[in-house]
Amino acid sequence: MGQLSLPLWTTTDRTEPRERTSSETPHATSQDSAGLQLAARLGTLLREPVEVELTDNAWTMVSWKRVEGRLQYRLHHMFCGAAEPLLRALAGFAGKNRKLHGAAIDEFVRTHRHLIKSSLLKAEPSLAARGRVHDLIDIYDQLNAQQFELRVKARIGWGRRPPDGRRRSIKMGVYFHEQKVIRIHPALDDEQVPRHFVGLVVFHEMLHQVLPPTTDGGGRRTVHGRDFRAAERRFPDYERARAWEKANLHLLLRRRD
Ligand SMILES: [Zn+2]
Repeated sequence: MGQLSLPLWTTTDRTEPRERTSSETPHATSQDSAGLQLAARLGTLLREPVEVELTDNAWTMVSWKRVEGRLQYRLHHMFCGAAEPLLRALAGFAGKNRKLHGAAIDEFVRTHRHLIKSSLLKAEPSLAARGRVHDLIDIYDQLNAQQFELRVKARIGWGRRPPDGRRRSIKMGVYFHEQKVIRIHPALDDEQVPRHFVGLVVFHEMLHQVLPPTTDGGGRRTVHGRDFRAAERRFPDYERARAWEKANLHLLLRRRD
């Protein structure tokens, strides 16, 4: 397996959780055909079957491995439509003279940084906290001051809108322990969703930092244990928010445009 990691983005904030769906997995349709084209061109040069998966991964822009006799590349989008010399470098990178070809790829990347930057922006949107209706920072700050004595240290933002379609379930919020990031479902940014309910969801995710999951002797992990549920009920508007949730879950699950 060969891998070329480029230290171009070491200054980028890596604490932001990356969402695998857009940054790590290949997209459908036009990207597939671009990948197939690249695979065919590399295959012709290398005279062996080649598979290409295109990624937005700017930290490892070129990697390859051999799986059951097939050469599998993972390549950043910027290599789509690569000119012949670059294509030769990509092909050569899987061969003996990896250092030389790696240098040629480096050089190409240096002169095409703007392509990485734009795809990085797509892959890692900043945490937008001020919604159309609710300001998450405002809610978070207020709760942190009034309920947590400012002990919670996290960043908060709205999650991305999911693809269209009727949903059967909805995860209101999520807390990423390692990154200390709270994301709230964008469906809650709506006039019909009262602030106290958004507050409860934010409060819940903040509690995850204060009361992290526990693991017992048998290896069983508890995320929402008795302590957690008891603490959650100390949210000032708890009963009202729960009642609203019960009565209005359909609002959150409906199809949105
Ligand atoms: Zn939870």
